[in-house]
Amino acid sequence: MKERLEQIKAEALKQIQNSDALDKLNEIRVSYLGKKGELTAVLKSMKDVAAEERPKVGQMVNETRQEIEAVLAQAKEKMEKAVLEARLQNETIDVTLPAKKNNVGHRHPNTIALEEVERIFVGMGYEVVEGPEVETDYYNFEALNIPADHPAKDEQDTFYINGDFLLRTQTSSTQVHEMEKEKLPIRMIAPGRVFRSDEVDATHSPSFHQVEGLVIDRHITFADLKGTLAEFARELFGEDTKVKFRPHHFNFTEPSAEMDVSCFKCGGKGCRFCKGSGWIEILGCGMVHPNVLSMSGIDPEKYSGFAFGVGLERIALLKYEIDDMRLLYENDIRFLKQF
Ligand SMILES: [Zn+2]
Repeated sequence: MKERLEQIKAEALKQIQNSDALDKLNEIRVSYLGKKGELTAVLKSMKDVAAEERPKVGQMVNETRQEIEAVLAQAKEKMEKAVLEARLQNETIDVTLPAKKNNVGHRHPNTIALEEVERIFVGMGYEVVEGPEVETDYYNFEALNIPADHPAKDEQDTFYINGDFLLRTQTSSTQVHEMEKEKLPIRMIAPGRVFRSDEVDATHSPSFHQVEGLVIDRHITFADLKGTLAEFARELFGEDTKVKFRPHHFNFTEPSAEMDVSCFKCGGKGCRFCKGSGWIEILGCGMVHPNVLSMSGIDPEKYSGFAFGVGLERIALLKYEIDDMRLLYENDIRFLKQF
């Protein structure tokens, strides 16, 4: 019996040593230690062993079983380790590979221009105010001294929603809302989107942006207007920038003017950029019309003020020397990421 056990053990160990896969180890376990395995068969044949020998043989069977199990466990551990190592070898991370690119967007040229304008005026003590894009006829026209039958209404090619409501054609309507609050003095700029039924071309779009400014206080004169806007131009286009005011007509201001700045490309000598004139038209402005003041409940005998309006796209186009306004709206990343 002892010899038989020794033989089983030797065979089992030899098979374990020769096996090269985990499932083969499992087969060996079943064939020696399983219910129908060889060791179990030995235990079953115990009935043939003399009664006094049985404990001794039982012990020998158990010892053989334990030895085979220990060797099996060792082999299994070794094999699992080898499998893991092979896997780690195959899945090595190459730290020299380029990292996945993280694309960070940035501000649109319009936004950069707006932040610049806001920075300048906030620095002069102005408040930034926003108003509704859908307006009544009253706020967009009438309260700005443009009565129902005035030809200026036609010029603005307005988008009407119905007889009373329309998409604002100018951010000046925000000024009226502010004046009606009866909190004086007023120093504000109102940036925002405006709408006109213009055909799209290099300098026109049915939707664009304006920044409107308004100052109302006692003793405000045209000198305040000139000083403020000249400082604005110098901050925006450089210290040597000169300004020039040309008489103009707007309904809501009297007197009214258009302001030109000296060409920041040629310094006023005349170049292709300024079409040889040395000047670039930049904004419209004027002293707030007494009618506009009194319609909003402000006494024009006591208060006066000035207002101005500048196209945001115009500033962005000039600052970045972009020659077609449509480029600002096409949202072509290759174009926008240049700024
Ligand atoms: Zn020029």
